[in-house]
Amino acid sequence: MIAFADDVSGITVSFEFFPPKSETDESFWRTIAKLETVHPQFVSVTYGAGGTTRDRTLKTVARIAAETTLKPAAHLTCVGASKHEVNEVVRDFYNAGVRHILALRGDPPGGVGTRFVPHPDGYRNAADLVRGIRDLGDFEISVSAYPERHPDSVSIEEDLAFMADKAEHGATRAISQFFFHNAFFLRLRDRIAARGIDIDLVPGILPITSFARVSEFASKCGAHIPPALATRFQGLDDDPETRNLVAAMVAAEQVDALRREGVKHFHFYTLNRADLVYAICRVLGLGSVAQAA
Ligand code: FAD
Repeated sequence: MIAFADDVSGITVSFEFFPPKSETDESFWRTIAKLETVHPQFVSVTYGAGGTTRDRTLKTVARIAAETTLKPAAHLTCVGASKHEVNEVVRDFYNAGVRHILALRGDPPGGVGTRFVPHPDGYRNAADLVRGIRDLGDFEISVSAYPERHPDSVSIEEDLAFMADKAEHGATRAISQFFFHNAFFLRLRDRIAARGIDIDLVPGILPITSFARVSEFASKCGAHIPPALATRFQGLDDDPETRNLVAAMVAAEQVDALRREGVKHFHFYTLNRADLVYAICRVLGLGSVAQAA
């Protein structure tokens, strides 16, 4: 049961988007404009698997920097590219006014579960990329985190060793893969603290726009779906209005429970839709006239 506290001060949010397919996709820019009203700390734009959206990611973050009040963060992976090529992209981001990069290894071209082979002249993993970016300019650097273990990793301990490396090289924030059992996130937060890793762990929240799609994502990345969650969405495939109300409630419950555990920043996977995320932010007390003042 949600029983929101009056005090939501200090809560901040950020949003993740895919770059739009075309520069004339005005619905994307309407989504951005709507979510701008809740004053996110930053908005991030993904980098297609294997660098496939390199130009679109760059154009999108450049336009966000030039035409909105938002601070863009560009995702960047090191798959299939030499250090020289990746460094060029980092410089392009810098010249476009971007000062925040989400540094990732990326998935191998064969997809999740296949072996990652670094480019012969490339960065070996995310930690190596973090070091490269830090040497190129004054960037804020975020990285990934996996509350339920990365599919390539043999143990949470191995994930933590990678996390420690990323933090030592200069990453200051780790944004988590989405999850539906808060206990996994809180366990990771405790383990990061116990190992003395100096990094802010931020939960990645995925509002459920389509239960079938989320189940598919979840099975690919190893996120567990509680049976009670499946029950809530059962039979709603052809009832988008009820589904959206349930989805907003589920995400608001998750966020509220995390807030009660001391979480202050939430990163939302928007899937380029404003409606659910905007509603959840309003429930959190963000986006009001008072906040704008
Ligand atoms: P790393 O942090 O380098 O490694 C992740 C884990 O894999 C490690 O903790 C370790 O346990 C294991 N591992 C890595 N290398 C090895 C090795 N050589 N041997 C053994 N174990 C190893 N992908 C995209 O293509 N574009 C995006 O924009 C994008 N955005 C993302 C945003 C977030 C918040 C998250 C959580 C993920 C995102 N991804 C994106 C997915 C990400 O690229 C994949 O999960 C990828 O497989 C790992 O990248 P990483 O940076 O997490 O890797």
